[in-house]
Amino acid sequence: MEKRDFIGKYVKFKKEGFKGFTGIVNEDAKGDLYVDLGNDYPVVLVTIKDIILIESEFEQYFHHATKVWVRSKLKGKHREYCLCFACERLHPGENNNCEIAQKLYDLCVRCGLTTPVFECPHFKENKGVVL
Ligand code: SF4
Repeated sequence: MEKRDFIGKYVKFKKEGFKGFTGIVNEDAKGDLYVDLGNDYPVVLVTIKDIILIESEFEQYFHHATKVWVRSKLKGKHREYCLCFACERLHPGENNNCEIAQKLYDLCVRCGLTTPVFECPHFKENKGVVL
């Protein structure tokens, strides 16, 4: 396989201190490969020899102390894709929070779900939001 064949693939990789970590391979501006571990982690530079391809596109991990299944390439991407995080009507924890978002949040907490809103008739762009 060539370098470009690894881009976008879900992988494990051999690097000191990252045993068991998984992520998506990408290429930086210099053409070096790196593994993106998700929103809250640094990217890790790798070579082709470091990469171990993973067959399944799903994995389990602990999210808010609950073991959940997730499509690996979407792990940690909720804020990036959910309309609510860019919406003026979202006010988590406040009385004026969006009624729909609050109901969805309550369901997520009760059932251990993470459910991004991809479409909403009431969305109002919050131009000041930085994700
Ligand atoms: S109006 Fe729609 S997009 Fe905005 S916070 Fe409510 S559910 Fe989310």
